[in-house]
Amino acid sequence: MKAIVTLNAGSSSIKFALYELSGDSLRFDAGGKIEEIGTAPRLRARNADGDILERNWPHDGALSHEHLLEDLFAWAATQLGDREIIAIGHRIVHGGPYFAAPRLLDDALLDALDTLIPLAPLHQPHNLAAVRALRALAPDLPQIACFDTAFHHDLPALATRLPLPRAFHDQGVRRYGFHGLSYEHIAERLREADPDRVGGRVIAAHLGNGASMCAIRAGKSVDTTMGFTALDGLMMGTRSGALDPGVILHLQTQLRMSAQEVETLLYKKSGLLGVSGLSSDMRSLHTSDAPQAAEAIDLFVRHAARQAAALIPALGGLDGMVFTAGIGENDPVIRARICESLSWLGLALDAEANGRNASIISAQGSKVLVRVIPTDEEAVIARHVVNLIKFEGSHSP
Ligand code: AMP
Repeated sequence: MKAIVTLNAGSSSIKFALYELSGDSLRFDAGGKIEEIGTAPRLRARNADGDILERNWPHDGALSHEHLLEDLFAWAATQLGDREIIAIGHRIVHGGPYFAAPRLLDDALLDALDTLIPLAPLHQPHNLAAVRALRALAPDLPQIACFDTAFHHDLPALATRLPLPRAFHDQGVRRYGFHGLSYEHIAERLREADPDRVGGRVIAAHLGNGASMCAIRAGKSVDTTMGFTALDGLMMGTRSGALDPGVILHLQTQLRMSAQEVETLLYKKSGLLGVSGLSSDMRSLHTSDAPQAAEAIDLFVRHAARQAAALIPALGGLDGMVFTAGIGENDPVIRARICESLSWLGLALDAEANGRNASIISAQGSKVLVRVIPTDEEAVIARHVVNLIKFEGSHSP
C-alpha cells in the first residue's frame, strides 16, 4: 500500500498529514501539527479513528526545524505499517509570476523559489528549508511544490496591477494573492454542495492567524485582499494588513527605523497583538476584560467588513459568503459582527445555527447564503500530488 505525506512548514509550526493511496482514492490516515517551535515544541496529531497522539520535547529553543522534521519522519514511520511513502507534497507560499501548477522540487526550482524569499519572508524560507531537510533524509523521495498563490494565477489582469509605474509590474511588483490552497478547497466544496449555483458570486473569508478574503465567481478567484505579499488586506493576528503607505515612509524617515525593524513590526508585532498589547490569539482576547482587547476585536471586525465590501465591485453583487480557518470556523461572535456590518448586502444570520457553527448559518430568507466550511489545505495538496504522479507516470517512456 502506498502513502502520501503533506507538509506545511512555518516559522513556529509544522503541519502535516499522512494519506493512504488506494488506486486513485486518498484516505486520511493521520495528521497534526508540531507547534511552538523555538520555545517548547510539542506534537499533537490524530489518526483516522480520532485517537489523539501527543509528544512533548524537552523545553529547548535550540531544537531546529531539521531535527524536528527528522523526529516527525521517524514518528511517521511508526504509523506506516506495511505502507510506503511515495511522495511528499509541500505548501509553498509564493510561486511568483511563473509557477502555478504543482511541480517536482528539483535544484533549479528550489533556486528559483529562493529568489522569492523577500516577498514572503515569514513563510518561504521555512517552506524551502523543510524541502532541503527532507532531501537530505530521503534523497530519492519525490517532493512536490503546491503553491499558495496558484488559485489566483488567473486573476483578471486589472486585479493583479498596483497603481505604480508600469515598469515595476513587469519586474514582478504586482498583486498575487495567497491562501489559494484553502480557497481551492472552499471552491470545490461549494461546487459539490451547490452544483446549481456554480456561477454564484461568493466571498470566502479565511480568518485565522493569517487572514484574507477572496472574491470567487463561477469557482474562480476574481479578486482577493492579499496582494504582493501576505501583509495586505485584513488586520491579522500579528500582521497589520492594509496600511497607508505614508506610515512606512514616516517610520523610516522620521522615526529612523531600519527596513528590518519595519518588517518585524508589520509582520510580527502589529494586528491583534499590536493593538491589544496582549495577544495575537482571538480566543485569548475574548476572555480579556482589558479595553484594549475589545478595541483590537472591534478593529478586526471593522477592517474585515471593509475589505469584504471592497470585493463587491469585482463580483457585481453577492450570493454567498463562506467563513473558514480558526476564527472563521469557530467564532460565532466574530462571524455575527462581520455579517451585521454587511447586513445592507442582504446577509441575515440564524443566531442558533451560527452559535453551533452549523454548515449553513444564514437565516431563512437571507438574500446571501452564509456557510461555515472547514478548510483542508492538506487534502488539496495530497490530491495535487496524486494527479502529478499520475500525469508524470502517463508521460514516462
Ligand atoms: P488558524 O491560523 O487557522 O489556526 O487560526 C488561529 C486563530 O483562530 C487564533 O486567533 C485562535 O484564537 C482562533 N480560534 C481557534 N479556535 C477558536 C475558537 N473556538 N473561538 C475563537 N477563536 C478561535
